[in-house]
Amino acid sequence: MSVEFAKKLASIPGYVAGAPAGKAPESIAAEGIAQLASNESPWGPHSAVAEAIGRAAAAVNRYPDPSAALLRRRIAERYETDPAQIALANGSCDILLAAALALCEPGAEIVYAWPAFSIYPYLAPLSGAREVRVPLAEGDVHDLDAMLAEITVATRLVLVCNPNNPTSTHIPAARLAEFLAQVPDHAAVIVDEAYVEFQLHDDPDATVDLRREFPNLILLRTFSKAYGLAGLRVGYALCAPSFRSAVDAVRQPFSVNAIAQAAAAEAILHQDHVTRQVERNLVERVTVEEGVRELGLETPASHTNFSWISLGDRDEAAILAALEREGVLVRPGTPLGGPGHIRVSYGYPPQNRRFLDALAAGL
Ligand code: PMP
Repeated sequence: MSVEFAKKLASIPGYVAGAPAGKAPESIAAEGIAQLASNESPWGPHSAVAEAIGRAAAAVNRYPDPSAALLRRRIAERYETDPAQIALANGSCDILLAAALALCEPGAEIVYAWPAFSIYPYLAPLSGAREVRVPLAEGDVHDLDAMLAEITVATRLVLVCNPNNPTSTHIPAARLAEFLAQVPDHAAVIVDEAYVEFQLHDDPDATVDLRREFPNLILLRTFSKAYGLAGLRVGYALCAPSFRSAVDAVRQPFSVNAIAQAAAAEAILHQDHVTRQVERNLVERVTVEEGVRELGLETPASHTNFSWISLGDRDEAAILAALEREGVLVRPGTPLGGPGHIRVSYGYPPQNRRFLDALAAGL
């Protein structure tokens, strides 16, 4: 007899990481590998964040503040809202998983677009719900009308990845508002805004104003991208207090560790640093998009820190292998739901040029 695991495990896809397994980030960098596969920021956080981490490190014999009061207050101040409307988690992934557990059960339905963030397919098997995937429309953008048509009395959760990972496209807040106005109140809508700081359509806080009009709207954001804190795992939601209580109820009490709380509470004070990272990202985006198009490849206008590149009828695996031989790691499109594509995150300027040279050689 061997241990029997729950049947639902067979339907959970399993996450394929972008970085080589078993290697610390600093050793990947020391080997000269351009790690352009995980949509991280190549630039670190503000220098004051390292100091805050040092101070918090001196007290790690204590459990963290379970309510993360300082961090929730600082996020609330940043958005001119109430700390009761902030849910925190060990990365925004953690909120997605907790939302599925808190909102869904057998008989419930989850609606999301595909391809979108690779964690969404975990949510239905984990919670016993049924998932409805809605293909992206022309231009690799969410088909909001087709999503609306799939919402039923059983729908508990609708996910809109905006900007969308892996396709880098973005729906302006005004269009999102039209969609939200047609979603029935019983369905929670999570707009996953992990990359919102990088989009060019709207002020990044345009959707924050929509929360007043749509109480079933949850905005999911993270310190992993524009703030450069992916390794610490801090995500948050701007949400109704009932959503916050629900996700807290299904998780362990200390989900955000003490160092992460201190680092994020400092990082959010330095919005000038975030702006600088967004500007640097924009320069790299222009370089990569122009370089890719000069090679005759198509890529949608990116609103993120990565590009989604169509390889036409070229061999995805062969191109990946050619890039890898040059020490450049990108994401293959096939496991992300887009065969015949690669997704490249923007790195430092020389890494992006190296990527373009290796891509040109590999075509
Ligand atoms: N949402 C999207 C769309 C993402 O791409 C990612 C990270 N790849 C996340 C959420 C999760 O980010 P984190 O858990 O690091 O906050």
